[in-house]
Amino acid sequence: MAITHHADDSTLMSYAAGTLPEALSAVVAAHVAMCTDCRRELATLDELGAILLADLPGQATVMPLPRQPAVEPAPCSAIVRKPSAAAGTIPAPLTRLVGKDLDAIAWKRLGLGVWHLPLPLSANATGDLRLIKVAPGQIMPDHGHGGAELALILAGSYTDSIGHFGHGDLADLDDAVEHQPIADREAGCICLIASEHPARFKGLFARLVQPFVGL
Ligand SMILES: [Zn+2]
Repeated sequence: MAITHHADDSTLMSYAAGTLPEALSAVVAAHVAMCTDCRRELATLDELGAILLADLPGQATVMPLPRQPAVEPAPCSAIVRKPSAAAGTIPAPLTRLVGKDLDAIAWKRLGLGVWHLPLPLSANATGDLRLIKVAPGQIMPDHGHGGAELALILAGSYTDSIGHFGHGDLADLDDAVEHQPIADREAGCICLIASEHPARFKGLFARLVQPFVGL
């Protein structure tokens, strides 16, 4: 099915400029690898950056669009800036971290039909990056966000008040959004989720598990 939900323009511009936080960049890199529309948009931004630099040499006030984040090293930085052609279920930028097979992932159970796999970030990075697997028909706790959050669907789908999100779709959420996703009733949902800060779940389920899982 075609990808219908993409990164917001501002998110893609921050990604192109290398200023998006590492966890969020990892999700955008994975989406870009799956999405021809966003690859095209990114190429346009790169051309724009090159034109700005070429037309305005020596202008100290003009912000260039660097192709690499200022800070390098770390486990996750390897996947942040490597868009590649669309691949199978797990996009190429992610395979270094989680392998090529979703079925082979060593999920950790959170309880009530939800499993996760926290992914490593650089020592100095803030935010949170993890895979989440939700059982078919499972309702996720209603929650708001402490800052920006991105969710990329790798398998199955979910539906919330914003719409239906299937394979390759990217949910680009800001802290004004509160949502209660319901996983596909047959396939469930596996997604890659990054947040600028930990999510603040509000429901009873959340209050029960939050102290233990750091969500
Ligand atoms: Zn896209």
